[in-house]
Amino acid sequence: METLQYSLQLIEEEIQAACTRSERQREDVTVIAVTKQVSTKRAQEVIEIGVLDLGENRPEGILTKQEGIQMDNVNWHFIGNVQSRKVKDIIDKIDFLHSLDRMSIAKEIQKRASSQVDCFVQVNVSGEASKSGLQPEELEEFIRQLTEFDKIRVIGLMTMAPFTQDKELIRSVFRSLRNLRDDLAAKNMDHAPCTQLSMGMSNDYTIAIEEGATHVRIGTALVGTESEGDG
Ligand SMILES: *Cc1c(COP(=O)(O)O)cnc(C)c1O
Repeated sequence: METLQYSLQLIEEEIQAACTRSERQREDVTVIAVTKQVSTKRAQEVIEIGVLDLGENRPEGILTKQEGIQMDNVNWHFIGNVQSRKVKDIIDKIDFLHSLDRMSIAKEIQKRASSQVDCFVQVNVSGEASKSGLQPEELEEFIRQLTEFDKIRVIGLMTMAPFTQDKELIRSVFRSLRNLRDDLAAKNMDHAPCTQLSMGMSNDYTIAIEEGATHVRIGTALVGTESEGDG
């Protein structure tokens, strides 16, 4: 618990500094604690020190954590790739979906969700073959096709930076996502306000904030990793 508190404090200082450098307000950035590699107990502890947004990348992860943590003030973020047939298992249990990237998922949400879901459309800005997400040039067409999907509200875009030490390359990816977001937001689509930016993880969240991230998804730097049964 103490180390957790300490990690959060360091992260908060880094976030504050990044906000100051980019003339942004701290409250415009939401920290999502990514708990996919830790126990429910550790996830509970991170809530107790005040982080009320949790992220998981597998349906089982969300379901297990929710079963153990029955609190209504927690926001649940699904950040991973989801198979269409699993959408029904999670869609009414999450507050945000960060990984909408294909029509089959959109159709399944439309069919299964009992109320509107706030979604980020995932974009593969870096173009790496291994990454999910739409190509930037497919984005607008995809979002326009969602006009009739009243269960989906596109609140923003999400990306993952390439795995590299090259900070300028990472920055250029985040900047591209921001530009895409700005273009879409300017179109004032009712179903797609597209004002939010989910980008930045443990290694690159300060760069992401400097480039406009509204949601950073922080796993290892905050909660560490635990092996099964630990903690
Ligand atoms: C695991 C994961 C994160 C967190 O990664 P860390 O490097 O541990 O901070 C963020 N986003 C997504 C989509 C992830 O799968």
